[in-house]
Amino acid sequence: MSRLRGLKCRECGETYPISPTNVCEYCFGPLEVDYDYDLIRSLISRERLADGPPTIWRYKDLLPVEGDRLVDLKAGYTPLLHAKRLGARLGLNNLYLKNDTANPTWSFKDRVVTVALTKAIEFGFDTVACASTGNLANAVAAHAAHAGLKCYVFIPSDLEPAKVTAALVYGPNLVRVRGNYDEVNRLCSEISDRYPSWAIVNINLRPFYSEGSKTLAYEVVEQLGWRAPDQVVVPIASGSLLTKVHKGLNELVKVGLIDRQATKINGAQADGCSPVTTAFKEGTDNVKPVRPSGIAKSLAIGNPADGYYAVRTIRDTGGGAESVSDDEIVAAIRLLGETEGLFTETAGGVTVGVLKKLAEAGKFGGDETVVAYITGCGLKTQEAVTGSLREPYAIEPNIASFQAAANLS
Ligand SMILES: *Cc1c(COP(=O)(O)O)cnc(C)c1O
Ligand SMILES: [Zn+2]
Repeated sequence: MSRLRGLKCRECGETYPISPTNVCEYCFGPLEVDYDYDLIRSLISRERLADGPPTIWRYKDLLPVEGDRLVDLKAGYTPLLHAKRLGARLGLNNLYLKNDTANPTWSFKDRVVTVALTKAIEFGFDTVACASTGNLANAVAAHAAHAGLKCYVFIPSDLEPAKVTAALVYGPNLVRVRGNYDEVNRLCSEISDRYPSWAIVNINLRPFYSEGSKTLAYEVVEQLGWRAPDQVVVPIASGSLLTKVHKGLNELVKVGLIDRQATKINGAQADGCSPVTTAFKEGTDNVKPVRPSGIAKSLAIGNPADGYYAVRTIRDTGGGAESVSDDEIVAAIRLLGETEGLFTETAGGVTVGVLKKLAEAGKFGGDETVVAYITGCGLKTQEAVTGSLREPYAIEPNIASFQAAANLS
């Protein structure tokens, strides 16, 4: 008996066997992995999970892989911090930060990639590829190197230098496309048709890849002592992470690990690319594509594949959505650094900036448990903040010079 029933169209419900494909042949809807939850319920327990590895693979029963050969750089099981000082600034007594900068390539993308490349090997692929806004490039290149897979990574040409270096070091074929992410993604769809023997993680492997994001819901619930948070704040690029956090919470109820969940899912985008939060605020499910701008490059998807489902999830769960300016992103990166000792990239600045905006608008109760997902590391987007930080003291190597510069006696 298999835990995996197959793939199922999210729109018309048509089912397909497990295979490297992502679109319904009848209605062009997206395909999603369908599980036998009754079977999983009989396998899984809090006790068994406690004995699992300190990685996303402790949740293997709820992930779409079948064999034992994992492509595993030990992604996941990242720290959940009780953010007392930031919480005090925002009037939140139970604010938690999920620190996903503590992953092998310093972003949450390691979660989706460890699942996608494990599946690529199960399907028998020897070449993997992706269209990336940066962090995915790093994660795919690293996991491909670890597994000895051939790798092509497509990025927009304006990517931050640190993300280019943090992909090149793993030796992939890095392809810099003169265009934005949406153009890179379109090119990769054509490449997927032309080279069907390639596993393109966010195209033909998308149904499997996206399942890795569910672990960000599982871990938070486990780390809170098997309790779903009252509210979460999630950054949005394609909208996959946000919708999968919701799916993950629902699954924990289905398999009996928790009795109920009523988590409100809040969405965060940057003003420079806010198709989802704009649709939410306008009260429509119709996400209008935009041309991205601004410093939050890892979230710069103007035509988000899961945008429609993200708006629906936010609305159906009673969440909210906001966007923030580049200046607010920089201020939020500094606020997080100065209050909690955590250095996040621009995407985390978006999350914290929106958390602050929603808190100031009265979205959260002071004692509610609120979790903000910090999805990427600040060393990758240093140019966003360098100019706005305090200058160091520059001194001669003697005490007098130090005292003069630091105003000490
Ligand atoms: C890709 C990414 C996201 C959002 O991912 P989606 O699933 O495409 O919405 C959030 N934060 C960081 C740092 C990312 O790299
Ligand atoms: Zn369909």
